[in-house]
Amino acid sequence: MADECSEWLSECMKVFPKLKKYVITAGYSRAPQKVLAQVKVRITRFKDIDVEALLLRGESKTKVTRKLDECYQIEISNRLREIENVEIRKQVVQHSMIHELLHIERKDLETLDKNHRRRRQKKIHVKEFEEEVFQRYNQLRELSGLPAIQKRKTST
Ligand SMILES: [Zn+2]
Repeated sequence: MADECSEWLSECMKVFPKLKKYVITAGYSRAPQKVLAQVKVRITRFKDIDVEALLLRGESKTKVTRKLDECYQIEISNRLREIENVEIRKQVVQHSMIHELLHIERKDLETLDKNHRRRRQKKIHVKEFEEEVFQRYNQLRELSGLPAIQKRKTST
């Protein structure tokens, strides 16, 4: 059960080639009410020590701070796990994953609040965003040999 998310995520990654350089994981977990999925980011910043200053002058200084590692964890609500039909569960889960992956690709997470509900108010879920999610989802279906689904009406 824990592995289905990893498997489905790796399928989703096929339509996000730009994200291949990141470590992204996915799994079921407890999510707040009304949230189907959320993404958590862990950025490890690495401070370089100015070796020269330390050795020659005994000063311990830090130089540049560079980003070393970016890990993202997509948390899928446990409630989706309760969908008994595997095919339907997979579709809903993958659609949610694509939504979160698109946030990662667009760097919404670094510039905006990590709290999804607060992000929601910051107008990143514009119509165009939802359309992009929909398009990527259909690309994924195509790769799996499934027919594209028709555009649903999105409410904003
Ligand atoms: Zn979102």
